[in-house]
Amino acid sequence: MSLWWTLVDRPTFSPGSLDQQWDVLIVGGGFSGLWSAHHLLNADPSLKIAILEASHVGSGASGRNGGWVSALYPRSDETLATHSSPSEIAQLHECLRNSIDAIGDFVKKEKIDCGFSKGGSLLIARHKAQLARLVSEIDAQTHLLSAEETKDRINMHGAIGATYTPHCARINPAQLVVALAQSLEQRGVAIFENTKAQIHADKSVEVGGEKLHATIVIRAIEAYRERTRELIPIYSLMIATEPLPQEVFDEIGIAGRETFAEANHVVSYAQRTPDNRLAIGGRGAPYTWGSKRNSASERHKKIHAQLRAMSTSWFPILKKYEFTHAWGGAVAITRDSSPYARFNGSYAELGGYIGDGVTLSFLVAQTLADLITNSESERTRLPFVQWQSPQWEIEPLRWLGVNSAIVLSNLADREERMSSRPSLLAKGLGRIMGT
Ligand SMILES: Cc1cc2nc3c(=O)[nH]c(=O)nc-3n(C[C@H](O)[C@H](O)[C@H](O)COP(=O)(O)OP(=O)(O)OC[C@H]3O[C@@H](n4cnc5c(N)ncnc54)[C@H](O)[C@@H]3O)c2cc1C
Repeated sequence: MSLWWTLVDRPTFSPGSLDQQWDVLIVGGGFSGLWSAHHLLNADPSLKIAILEASHVGSGASGRNGGWVSALYPRSDETLATHSSPSEIAQLHECLRNSIDAIGDFVKKEKIDCGFSKGGSLLIARHKAQLARLVSEIDAQTHLLSAEETKDRINMHGAIGATYTPHCARINPAQLVVALAQSLEQRGVAIFENTKAQIHADKSVEVGGEKLHATIVIRAIEAYRERTRELIPIYSLMIATEPLPQEVFDEIGIAGRETFAEANHVVSYAQRTPDNRLAIGGRGAPYTWGSKRNSASERHKKIHAQLRAMSTSWFPILKKYEFTHAWGGAVAITRDSSPYARFNGSYAELGGYIGDGVTLSFLVAQTLADLITNSESERTRLPFVQWQSPQWEIEPLRWLGVNSAIVLSNLADREERMSSRPSLLAKGLGRIMGT
């Protein structure tokens, strides 16, 4: 179980019998499904909405993630520029930044105790190649910090510089997902937990052999889709320490509750939690043949051990403390790393956020609500609207390609440490993956 759920009193949602006729039926009770209901109700409070959740609200990635409420987008501006104008790309980034504040406003208004703290984010270089890459990625929202300035904020062993952006908050995501569901329930949304729905090819919905009818069906199940080449599940893993005493933070800093990561090619991310632990995550678990979801990958011992080793190499003082939690979950990756919000008049779907879904699900769901309610807004021209990614390759090409990419990302990090130059391997990899 993720650390987050051990810190939350999880209510159950069971509104009674499942009517057969709805205005909107949402399949999936993570952030995507819940924010979709939230934004649709904002547009039209009279809508009769049900959310069908196979397990419990937030049981997927939404209740397990690193708790970064960031303005990150999984595709680079360079790639976006092949099909979006500079003003559309600028609009996307502005919408993402505004969404962080909108989530913060919601937390404040609903008095949600999820530790929302907007301390920004630090990306740290520990060798010259990482620093060169960071310098090349500076933009109007990102400042470069010298080694001294970095140390003032975070005393990571070997740090020679960092970038800082103010556009990131940290939360306990399970607390937010539960409070969001409770707020929807109060607004009249019926949330059915332990209710697995089947969406048929004709987009009708069936639960336990019974057909349900809705004017609009929304699929919001992210990495839980089966037998599809539209996306693959990739596991992200996390660990957390015991609550740490003040003397540790006197040594390592992050007094501003900044989220942070090392500028590696293999993704890493960390936060100081609301109860003063460090929660650290990363990727690297192998892809499973046939895009099968595999709960053993959530507990991949080698990756959890690597995360502990990385954490103590960042902060040697952590060797004195216990790592008390280890967990993981699947993120969904489309072939070109693009998220999507699609609507065809009666059927809608959203997802494909990779590891950036906490803020993105808010924005993509808001955009989907605009499309469904036929409201023209600055969002309806964003790059993910009606986006259809190419399909993933058939096996064994997919298995070979994805697992090679994971190995090559590790090699790229090693190449950079040895050569002190940004990795050519990683550049080639980015092109192949379309990021
Ligand atoms: C370990 C980890 C760390 C991450 N860290 C971050 C981070 O720090 N910041 C960030 O922005 N993003 C992060 N992410 C990504 C982010 O968590 C996800 O992008 C986001 O939560 C996706 O929300 P979702 O609602 O689309 O999917 P999910 O939360 O996975 O929800 C899908 C839901 O659908 C339900 N479901 C599936 N099939 C059915 C069915 N047939 N019928 C009914 N219900 C069904 C599932 O039970 C599940 O609850 C991380 C992800 C992981 C796994």
